[in-house]
Amino acid sequence: MTETFTGGCQCGRVRYVLTLENRNAYLCHCRMCQRATGGVAAAFVNMRKEQRRWLSEPDWYASSPIAQRPFCSRCGTPLGFEYPDAERCDVTLGSVDDPDDFIPTSHFGAEAIHETWLDTRALDRMRCDEYPSLVERWKKAEK
Ligand SMILES: [Zn+2]
Ligand SMILES: [Zn+2]
Repeated sequence: MTETFTGGCQCGRVRYVLTLENRNAYLCHCRMCQRATGGVAAAFVNMRKEQRRWLSEPDWYASSPIAQRPFCSRCGTPLGFEYPDAERCDVTLGSVDDPDDFIPTSHFGAEAIHETWLDTRALDRMRCDEYPSLVERWKKAEK
């Protein structure tokens, strides 16, 4: 059984289709991924490269002598990670159109985990649509 997922960058220039056997994902906490995504960690879905089909080609950045990362040069969205000579690759979970129901299965880059960010469930929560100034900005922008 496989499932098909679509995704892409924020502006829509780069699009892809993934064909996956499961909804496993993981967090990479390494400093390279922190810098490449600007996040405290990168959530990735790992797959064989032939399971990822680009509908429109991404740009590529050599993030180190051993790795390259697809991204969109128009909007800047980080789209993944791979070793050029490897069979497998990673796609950023946040770039999947419907990232619900993926299951975090492991932590990688454990040496750089920001421990205090691992369990934030107890923090106060606010929805975007409950934040008056944001709602107001969207109203004005949509006029
Ligand atoms: Zn884009
Ligand atoms: Zn990493």
